[in-house]
Amino acid sequence: MQALVFYQHGGLDEVKVTDVPEPEPAADEVLLRIHAAAFNRLDLWVLAGWPSLKLPLPHIMGSDGAGRIAALGANVTGWQVGDRAAVNPTFSCGRCSFCQRGQDNLCDQFAIYGEHRPGFMAEYAVIPARNLQPLPESVSYATAAAASLVYVTAWHSLIERGRFQAGEDILIIGAGGGVNTATIQIARLAGAKTIYVVGSDEAKLAQARDLGADVTINRQEEDWGKFMFKATHRRGVDVVVDNVGAATYSSSLRALKKGGRLLTVGNTSGPKFEFDNRYIFGKHLEIIGSTMGPMTAYAKVMELLFSGRLQPIIDTIYPLAEAPTALHRLQNGDVRGKLVVEP
Ligand code: ZN
Repeated sequence: MQALVFYQHGGLDEVKVTDVPEPEPAADEVLLRIHAAAFNRLDLWVLAGWPSLKLPLPHIMGSDGAGRIAALGANVTGWQVGDRAAVNPTFSCGRCSFCQRGQDNLCDQFAIYGEHRPGFMAEYAVIPARNLQPLPESVSYATAAAASLVYVTAWHSLIERGRFQAGEDILIIGAGGGVNTATIQIARLAGAKTIYVVGSDEAKLAQARDLGADVTINRQEEDWGKFMFKATHRRGVDVVVDNVGAATYSSSLRALKKGGRLLTVGNTSGPKFEFDNRYIFGKHLEIIGSTMGPMTAYAKVMELLFSGRLQPIIDTIYPLAEAPTALHRLQNGDVRGKLVVEP
């Protein structure tokens, strides 16, 4: 089968579309004919690699996928060949104490498809049946693939871990990026009072307003820390979503009101930094981290997607042969939504 792979870690030159063996489903897995896959920034980090990441090579890229069941493992029930399905990209064992409690994204064997395991930029993939969500005919494979990783991540962080409530104010650091745009939509749906978004690209800020942001701040023109201080009458906001890290954390902590929560699922500007701990205890702040989300969160957020209440932004859909071009665009940052690939 054709797949987008790399044979060694490095830059975009290492990526190519080539023939690899078709996988076979284990007893609890299905073989999925992938009809759409989508990129995340995670794919570029996995390609670059890091010291503790030891992958069998070649590695098939892509954490987002959706497709039609082509074969069933021996123990799979409740599904039939030909069924359409969206895929939660979080691997869990289904047996450890975390999995038993429904906290399967804390699983002892936690992994992400496309990161630690083969991904979905291929004609076929194998995946445990418990990761699948029935995909209605009314929803395209591209929509399901574009939504999977970012919406389950944003939902779990904002609603479940962050306990975001109707009537609260929220500040989101960064107008682009799939998780941030998903967070804007989910905060709107949850009844946010005021949604503030900080960014540097006017087109992305306009898109944020279209998605439901009330106030956007261009950090090229405005000191957003001072802006927030004034806009909230020196009180600050209930929740800040900061997936930037090193460059913004201190300002994010200052922008929170007493008892506020800083939510984080990543750190695009670097993982290690200093901050003033007096903000944490003096203002009774919480820093709440999470990664991906449990199967239950995936099911909830997909229901909202299937009913049209959440809608991923798709920039372009490419055939598999042009997936390397899409990756170049992702690296250059010249993207206004998800880059989808149809194998
Ligand atoms: Zn487990």
